This record gives sequence, structure tokens and C-alpha cells, in this order.
Amino acid sequence: IPVDPFDLVIFGGTGDLARRKILPGLYLRFLSGQMTADSRIIGAARADLTEEAFRQSVRESIAEFVPKPKQDEAVISAFLGQIGYVTIDAKGEGGWPALKAMMRPGMVRAFYFSVAPALFGDIAERLHLHGVADGESRIVVEKPFGRDLASARALNEVLAQHFKESQIYRIDHYLGKETVQNLMAVRFANILFEPIWKAEYIDHVQITVAETVDVAGRGAYYDKSGAMRDMVQNHMMQLLCLIAMEPPYHFDPNAVRDEKLKVIRALDAVKPEDIVRGQYRATIDKGGDSYAVHSENPETRTESYIALKVNISNWRWKGTPFYLRTGKKLRARSSEIAITFREPPHSIFDDHTGWRENVLVIRLQPNEGMEMMVMIKEPGPGGMRLTQVPLDMSFADALGSEANDVPDAYERLIMDVIRGNQTLFMRGDEVEAAWAWADPIIQGWEARGDRPQLYDAGSSGPEDALMLMHRDGRRWRDIR
Ligand code: NAD
Repeated sequence: IPVDPFDLVIFGGTGDLARRKILPGLYLRFLSGQMTADSRIIGAARADLTEEAFRQSVRESIAEFVPKPKQDEAVISAFLGQIGYVTIDAKGEGGWPALKAMMRPGMVRAFYFSVAPALFGDIAERLHLHGVADGESRIVVEKPFGRDLASARALNEVLAQHFKESQIYRIDHYLGKETVQNLMAVRFANILFEPIWKAEYIDHVQITVAETVDVAGRGAYYDKSGAMRDMVQNHMMQLLCLIAMEPPYHFDPNAVRDEKLKVIRALDAVKPEDIVRGQYRATIDKGGDSYAVHSENPETRTESYIALKVNISNWRWKGTPFYLRTGKKLRARSSEIAITFREPPHSIFDDHTGWRENVLVIRLQPNEGMEMMVMIKEPGPGGMRLTQVPLDMSFADALGSEANDVPDAYERLIMDVIRGNQTLFMRGDEVEAAWAWADPIIQGWEARGDRPQLYDAGSSGPEDALMLMHRDGRRWRDIR
């Protein structure tokens, strides 16, 4: 379904994110017919480029980042014809009148801030000063949204001086993933899961975001952040919220976000013994360098890995811990949420040896999909012996090619901005609440002077992270 015609300005249009995600994503939406021929995209950045040179760079990013079968020369040419460029310094006054002149009345107007957060305030202010934005315009802001509560508040305040909350779209691209949205459909459109979606039936939840990449090349930048700020406070918190939240009364932006906020507010403070931080080290067989080398900081105490046990103090979840872990340079690239159910109250079978817990696994990557581990009788004449098999819900079989053709998170989220749907964007109070939870955790290890535990590159993380589960009589799922 086509969206309304729009004027979309991308501040930072020549940057890495615009080249890799935003512009190729818009091309794909154009190819699909969702972005129509009366929409415009305007790159805005400091570089003094001609419109032609910018279009050429967009052509190159399509060639590099769009799958070959989707590169159609006629469509690419038409798409480039809808692209403009204006040289603008966020901190200067040049270029703004030209940008204003490019805005067409009656179109949806959106401004994507794909620049360093330090420039958000400058851009927001000048959009108003020069009359480029109006009371209906939308702004899209990238991560990181602050590095603690104080800076997130300051960012919210500066944006609020010029835009209403209903105009502000804070991106968390995890929320744009197909499976993440499917999680809401599965929870709230089926009667099966919701009655057992609580501490009484769920033993614990594991959320894993494992990466194989290291931080080489951007280590100095990463070192100021670390896994807690880079992954947990935002992406993993959002996943936790979608699993833990109460059913919203309607699939409506504020109804959904109200429920997520309640979850964040119900999170307990995390005890020091429930936190494991790690840093990768080089190993002879895996090659590469250590985190300390990549971060260009021999004294670094920043974590490239973190595991946490998180408790939610509310009626639904009291007694069901959520274990979160994320890290760089691990054994495999794998993101999943695993919901482990409790044992049946009583076993009627003599041979209980093959018994394992039911687990609902929601895979985010690779192979987005869901899997439910269930017990069945082991086939054959061996008597009543139990074995566990996956009830596979990787939707490819049922949905055919549609399932493999899902738009990337950025594509979907940008279309949501144009449609004016904020459901999959973080509200200001949500972000602040997440920082209010994260801040004391970070301040705690800083005050104690904790050092991260070293782990081997290509392993599944530090030893202590295994203990975090073992001491509760549980174990992490393999990172495969
Ligand atoms: P980048 O350094 O590659 O690009 C920055 C862009 O900002 C360039 O187009 C540059 O011309 C423009 N710019 C810089 N100073 C300017 C000024 N004074 N006035 C006008 N334009 C100016 O950065 P990036 O990697 O594209 O990241 C952009 C934003 O997206 C950042 O907030 C980043 O944290 C966020 N982000 C990036 C990625 C990614 O994969 N690159 C992922 C998630 C979030």
C-alpha cells in the first residue's frame, strides 16, 4: 500500500548509516511501489556537493548494499530523479533558506537526524528558526539517545523546545525487525500463550545478542560506551519490555508504550553479583587483536560483553528472572529470546530421563522465526520414552516466498514515520526510565573499580557468566 507523498530530508545524508541503510532502504520501498513518484528525498550534509554528485553517491550505495536481483536500472534512474541535495552546516545559517524553498506544501514532511547526537539541538533549532519545519513535521532521531539519564533528559528537553512528542520518532531498529513485531502478534492474537505467560508457568527468560564482529576501527568510540550502553539500555530493554508487558488495550502507539514504561519502572536494581562484564582477548588460533588493542586504550575497563540477571517486581513476573547477555567477538552471530517453561507438576512416566523443559525460542538472527520445544514419545518399540523435538514455526514453509522477502527494519520504520505511526518508536519517558535503571548499575561498577573478565575471542563469553546461571541451577543455551 503506497504511503502519502512526502518530503524527507536526511541530515547526514552522506554518512555511513545513510549509505548503508537509509538510502538503500528507501530505494527498496520505491521499487515495491510503497514510495510513490511524487515523493522527494533531500540529502543534507556539510560536504559541498552538487546534486549530481550526491545522486551518484546514492547510486553507488544502491550498487553496494541492495541485493543484485533488486537492482533495476530503470527504477534506479527514476528513484535518483527524486533525490536532491543541499549543503548545510548544522551549526551555521547557510543552506537553510535553500532547504526551505525545496519543501512543498501539502506533503508529509520528515527530517531524519542521521548525525552525531551533539548536533540534534542545532538542527532542531534551525529547522524552526528558518521556518523549514511546521507543527506537523516529523523528526527521526538516531541512537545513541544519551549516555546517561542526565544527557538523555537534556536531549529530550532540547527537542521538546521545538517539537511535540507526537512529532518525535526515536529509532530503535530492533523494533523494526519482523520477528520482534511477530512476538506481539503471537502473544496477543492467540489464546494459547497468554494464560501461561507468567511466573507461575515460566521458569526464566534468556535474551541473547551475540556478535562475531570486534570493534576494530571504531574501538576508540566504542570504548566510551560499552555493551551496557550500546545494547542493553536500548535494544535488549525493548525486547524485555515486549515479552514482559501487559496486554495493551489496543495496538496503539501510546497504549503500547505505556505498558512498556510500566515494565521498565518495575525493574529491580541489579545486584553487583548479578552482573558479569567481559572483554575479549586475542587467542593464538583465532588471530586478531584484543579489545584493549582495538580500543586504543591499554587501561580500558569498558566491557565488550555483559551478562545480567534482571528481576521484575510486579504481579506477573515475581520469581521469574530475565537473563540478558550480549557481546562482541563471540562464537557465532545469534540473537534470540528463549522462554523456558516450568516442569509439569507431576510426572506420570516411569522413565523421566529424556524430559526437558518446554522452550519457546524467538530467533531474531540468523533465520528469523520461532521454535517451540515440546516433549513427545520417542518413536519406535522401546516403550514410553520421552524425547524433545522442535515444533518449527519458521514461517517460510507456510508463507512461501513472502516470508523471505520481509523489508529490513530501517525500511519499515521509515515508512512508519511517513504514516505517522509511533508504535515502534521509543517515547521520551521510556528512554529516560531505561537510563534511570541503567545509571546506578554503571555507576556501581565504576565506583567499585571493577575490571571486566577476559574471555577468548570466538568463545561463548567469560567463565563467570556461566556461573551466573549455574548457581541458579540453570544454563545458557548454546550460542550457535
Ligand atoms: P557518519 O560520521 O558516517 O556521518 C555523519 C554525517 O553527518 C555526514 O553526512 C556528515 O556530513 C554529517 N555532518 C557532520 N557534521 C555536520 C554538521 N556540522 N552539519 C551538517 N552535517 C554534518 O555517521 P553515521 O555512522 O552515519 O551515524 C549517524 C548517526 O546514526 C549517529 O548518531 C550514529 O550514532 C547513528 N547510528 C549509526 C549507525 C551506523 O551503522 N553507522 C548505526 C546506528 C546508529
